Amino acid sequence: MLFTSKSFCNTIPSADMKEKLFDDDYWQSVFDTFKDALRKEGATLPSVSQIAAEYGHDPYAILVSTLISLRTRDEVTLEASRRLLSLAPDVHALAGISEETVADAIKPAGFYKRKAAQLKAIAGILLEKHGGCVPSSQEELLALPGVGIKTANLTLNLGFAVEAICVDCHVHQIANRIGWIDTNSPEESVTALEAIMPRRFWIDLNELLVSYGQVICTPVSPFCSKCPASGYCPRKGVAASR
Ligand code: SF4
Repeated sequence: MLFTSKSFCNTIPSADMKEKLFDDDYWQSVFDTFKDALRKEGATLPSVSQIAAEYGHDPYAILVSTLISLRTRDEVTLEASRRLLSLAPDVHALAGISEETVADAIKPAGFYKRKAAQLKAIAGILLEKHGGCVPSSQEELLALPGVGIKTANLTLNLGFAVEAICVDCHVHQIANRIGWIDTNSPEESVTALEAIMPRRFWIDLNELLVSYGQVICTPVSPFCSKCPASGYCPRKGVAASR
């Protein structure tokens, strides 16, 4: 679980970034100092991580919540996920309620009508092809309606403890701002991060940087004055900071 690390240091090493990219100690320092900064700000876990904790890392709950989270604010995702999962705590229950009921439960999540149709279709496929279970391979997850690489990898991370880098807009933006990678899309960022980051950090990366992007390295005017990387971060693409 993030934000509970006992280790602490004030700043991330500021030596040459290129040399640090493949250094396990560098990444450990980043994770420790970012977590500490988040603790100081009283940050909470991202919504899907909260759902994962509440539902015992059930892959079904994580898949449903991740799908709801797309283009949706975190607080809306959390409540919409809880409403739907209380009505449909498993695949069989989801298959047994109407698309309209699903839509009403997840409203006002972004594109809630489309997501309701996708969730119903997913329930049917899981029952028909996977014995009512969420599959544990990226290939099978990507074959489900509405499931892209982000949803697939987060489900693998939180539901199956499979090492897969999940890149959303926060991960993509922060990794580029700080100079770890130089990419134009989240899809490119997955490959670029896989090349430089030790595998043991892959699962926690999304949870850490989503929270970091919500609280400190915010999309508009990040709080660089609170960031332990401020001493060396090139702030690529940052027009204004606080
Ligand atoms: S110094 Fe600023 S831009 Fe760089 S990672 Fe920290 S908050 Fe983000």
